[in-house]
Amino acid sequence: MQRKYYEAVIVGAGFGGMGAAIQLNRLGTDNIAILEREDDLGGTWHVNRYPGLAVDIASFTYSYSLAPNPYWSRMFAPGAELKRYAEHTADTYGLRRSMRFNTVVEGARWDEREQLWTVSVRDGEPLTARYLLTATGVPLATQVPGHTRHGDLPRQGPPQHRLGRLLRPDRPEGRDHRHRRHRRPAHTAGREERHRADRLPAHPDLGHSQNGLDALELAAAVNRGALAPAVAGGWAAGESLLVHADDPKSDGERSGKAIAADRMAIIIACSWPRAELTTLAHRHNPSEPDDLFRAVAACTTNREAARLVVSALEATGVEALALTKPTGYSDQAAAQRMVALLANPRSQLNDVTKAFRIAMRRLYRIRNIILHGGATHGVALEAALRTAAPLLGAGLDRIVHATENIDPLDLAARAEVALQLVHGETGLTTVDLLEPVR
Ligand SMILES: Cc1cc2nc3c(=O)[nH]c(=O)nc-3n(C[C@H](O)[C@H](O)[C@H](O)COP(=O)(O)OP(=O)(O)OC[C@H]3O[C@@H](n4cnc5c(N)ncnc54)[C@H](O)[C@@H]3O)c2cc1C
Repeated sequence: MQRKYYEAVIVGAGFGGMGAAIQLNRLGTDNIAILEREDDLGGTWHVNRYPGLAVDIASFTYSYSLAPNPYWSRMFAPGAELKRYAEHTADTYGLRRSMRFNTVVEGARWDEREQLWTVSVRDGEPLTARYLLTATGVPLATQVPGHTRHGDLPRQGPPQHRLGRLLRPDRPEGRDHRHRRHRRPAHTAGREERHRADRLPAHPDLGHSQNGLDALELAAAVNRGALAPAVAGGWAAGESLLVHADDPKSDGERSGKAIAADRMAIIIACSWPRAELTTLAHRHNPSEPDDLFRAVAACTTNREAARLVVSALEATGVEALALTKPTGYSDQAAAQRMVALLANPRSQLNDVTKAFRIAMRRLYRIRNIILHGGATHGVALEAALRTAAPLLGAGLDRIVHATENIDPLDLAARAEVALQLVHGETGLTTVDLLEPVR
């Protein structure tokens, strides 16, 4: 009997299996089959649908390094959003054509002579493959006579990549079990150093102050350097701009250099609405130009365009925007975030500031461990940068592009005041948080 041959067979169409398939494709291996026992992709996020389902680590760290998603609607995104992200990634990378659903793999045997795996599936023809990758999430519980259990796949043959083995079979159910899973979020983030490249402003306005230039030079290691200098340089960039000689030195919560973390967090939080609203303005893409489309096209500033989007979202909600470009999925999430923000700006901005502050303070702690403890290979370095680098990039970008060449400390002070005043008697809106008071 002629068996269907694949270069690689992947078992499981969850995040692990999809990540493996993307990497194989990138390495030039297209002849692959992804076998999935469920009727759709997404693994954990397809199977689990109970109310309140969400990731337990900040969602911006829970994404493929090659498909970062800056548009999570929440710090801890709900399960349905993870499922959509999985679908979006599968479509982007053309994975569906390799997927076979409702296909239960029952075992696999390595043929030493042929140098091939034979993979048996329930109610179907076996497949042969040069490589076998199990991304099954949990090991198979059953053992079929004459077949090998996944948990005991033979050691000989090409190396297996157990991408999905996050759980031990004896892991207890319940909260503790979920926490244990989350100890290794990097499973889904891949090994690429996500702190690199395109994270910091590519073309900063070099006409700005010498301080700004020095800070960008310090931060350059975030784009190009090894992890420890990237952490140290990234932090130093923010500190050089956002610490004042008169800042309190005592042990209080906001004393010492950590205050730079808080100031950076506030600046980033206040830049965030304008950044998202401006993007949304340019992503609105109806099949026939509508009023909003024409009005945005007539705008001469991003501020005007952002204001138009605010009015449209306030009047009609997310439906006001036709987000049909390839980024539609993440744009939808951004629009939902903006609707939530507009409904309750002060508390939303405070929540976001808190999250950014945690990321920035974490960067500071790791920097201290490196510079004061001499530990340059800690496991937390990469994770800290993955979260902090894009935020730091956004903050530095905002500081060096501040329209009226404002001192960074003044910008931070303005941001702090804006968080108190937004949506209050002064009429300060989410679009104008960092604008000078007129
Ligand atoms: C509530 C909850 C919150 C979580 N939060 C986080 C978090 O914050 N951070 C984090 O890193 N992780 C989190 N996780 C863990 C999450 O499971 C993993 O991050 C990730 O989704 C696992 O992906 P995977 O591809 O390895 O496994 P899975 O998603 O389990 O996918 C495995 C796939 O293999 C298929 N399969 C298994 N056996 C076979 C077979 N014999 N034949 C064919 N197909 C088979 C399954 O049907 C499944 O689709 C969370 C999990 C839950 C339940």
